[in-house]
Amino acid sequence: MQAHVWSIPLTTRFRGLTVREGVLLHDPDAHDGAGGWGEWSPFTEYDDAVAAPWLACAREAAAGEWPTPLRERVPVNVTVPAVGPEEAHAIVLRGGCRTAKVKVAERGQAEGEDEARLEAVRAALTALHPGEETRVRIDVNGGWDVDTALRRLPVLDRAAGGLEYVEQPCASVEELAEVRRRQHVPVAADESIRRAADPYRVRDLEAADVAVLKVQPLGGVAACLRIAEDIGLPVVVSSALESSVGIAAGVALAAALPELPHACGLATVQLFTGDPVTTSLLPVDGALPVRRPQVDAAALTRLAAPPDRADWWAARLARTAAVLERSS
Ligand SMILES: [Mg+2]
Repeated sequence: MQAHVWSIPLTTRFRGLTVREGVLLHDPDAHDGAGGWGEWSPFTEYDDAVAAPWLACAREAAAGEWPTPLRERVPVNVTVPAVGPEEAHAIVLRGGCRTAKVKVAERGQAEGEDEARLEAVRAALTALHPGEETRVRIDVNGGWDVDTALRRLPVLDRAAGGLEYVEQPCASVEELAEVRRRQHVPVAADESIRRAADPYRVRDLEAADVAVLKVQPLGGVAACLRIAEDIGLPVVVSSALESSVGIAAGVALAAALPELPHACGLATVQLFTGDPVTTSLLPVDGALPVRRPQVDAAALTRLAAPPDRADWWAARLARTAAVLERSS
């Protein structure tokens, strides 16, 4: 399998990053010689053991071993950061999506700013899709304690004209379970699901109504399909901030799930200033097309990481492959 290390600046700082790096794996023999591509892009601070399932996902993709899709399009949400109401309104109009995910509980902001943002988002969705069902979900990124969640959720539910769900209102699984028991807005677990064992814990503690799954940290499309079946919760497939090659694996999972009742969090390619494919996986009319990635060799050359970073990734890849071999 060939490895191509890339480095792509982001349009805005995200997760503290201004540049995203990763590796494209290429199996030229996959698909009867047409070749297959997979993305391996564990965040740089992760150790080799954590990065190993990400590699399993990339190898599965490069080998072309994805299940048959059950749908041709995957609905996605537009993400609204913790901005003012005018900007929030404009972002929703631009996205064309029927579901908006709105960041709330931003440090340093007054609580009323969340209400204003949610009202603006609901107004924009209604203006964009009059007479149709639109949805607003919020993401707290674990920023509340249980008391704050119980106090804020009814207020934000009203401001949003009804919330689809709240993503990770508190940090721990135990807190999610308590919030879920004590009020009516459905709870989604995101940060609580980082490794393969986590979804089972969320299920066993009855901590969530929705599971947010990401294909790279959980070991690939087949592994996530198994988890989804085991936990019996509706799944929202989200990205780990990948190029279109990595996003395609998330789309493959979303396309293969027997039920897909919620829009997925896979519309993140617009955060990249470049993309190593011929056509980027960007939403059209609120959905992504289901297709295998077509890598653009010229773009891949243009986006190649500088030599010191390429060496760093090559060494990391060799170590992580050894970890994966030992565990299989
Ligand atoms: Mg989240």
